Amino acid sequence: MEVRVGVPLRDFYNGHQTEFQLEKQQICEECEGSGSADGQVDQCSSCGGHGVKIQKHMLAPGIFQQVQVTCDVCGGQGKTIKHKCPVCEGSRVVRKVSTFQLNIDRGAPKGMRIKYENDADESPDYVAGDLHVTLTEKEASLEEDNEGRVDGTFFRRKGDDLYWKEVLSLREAWMGGWTRNLTHLDGHIVALSRSRGSVIQPGLVERVQGEGMPKWHEDGDSVYHTTEFGDLLVEYVVVLPDQMEKGMEKDFWALWEKWRKKNGVDLQKDSGRPEGAVKMPVKDEL
Ligand SMILES: [Zn+2]
Ligand SMILES: [Zn+2]
Repeated sequence: MEVRVGVPLRDFYNGHQTEFQLEKQQICEECEGSGSADGQVDQCSSCGGHGVKIQKHMLAPGIFQQVQVTCDVCGGQGKTIKHKCPVCEGSRVVRKVSTFQLNIDRGAPKGMRIKYENDADESPDYVAGDLHVTLTEKEASLEEDNEGRVDGTFFRRKGDDLYWKEVLSLREAWMGGWTRNLTHLDGHIVALSRSRGSVIQPGLVERVQGEGMPKWHEDGDSVYHTTEFGDLLVEYVVVLPDQMEKGMEKDFWALWEKWRKKNGVDLQKDSGRPEGAVKMPVKDEL
């Protein structure tokens, strides 16, 4: 039996003990799997308790074929019940919701499979198989599962690394002199900053070592093993202002004009492209 359980990224990072519910087939408790209200189970008189009957077909005059068929009276059980159990109506099993404990290891990889031995559908006729739980990552949401409103809701995971997009204003990207405090998935702070004069180009990716996902290990955090971490990759997005006060716009324009005349570079000239459209030579008709 296979089920998928969605887990928020925060639980993959911190490790988490939780539970999940699953509807599965279980042996009826009312009749203890007998299917009978009074516990009385009789041998099927039609098949003599074998569950099967032998049928003879005549293929041609004098030629018979013997076929073994499932008994239609007891459905192959070999037993009949006069007073059926009111809960399972004689089927001996019911579908019920069960609660399972789920232990998510720190740094558990996406798609990790956890085995619950003999916890699949039950039946009085066979030993229950195993239940396999596959951990999947739940879509991030600010409303759910985030009492601390940690930024971590919007981290993206790739293997052992985490990805984050940080927005800078034009002034910050260009002039430097800013700080940001990222709240990580366990609530600790990752400080990002640049001193004055330190430029960040749009799209720059900064690698912050050791601030990624914990690397999963069977020993977890113990005397035998200290958890190592992947990296955090911060991509900077620079937002240009699309609205400005009139006075501000005038000031900036004047400032640009002043410095452009002094030591500006004409990128159009600098590019080495020809001025105006290029006349292509007319091809000879062959
Ligand atoms: Zn029952
Ligand atoms: Zn029968």
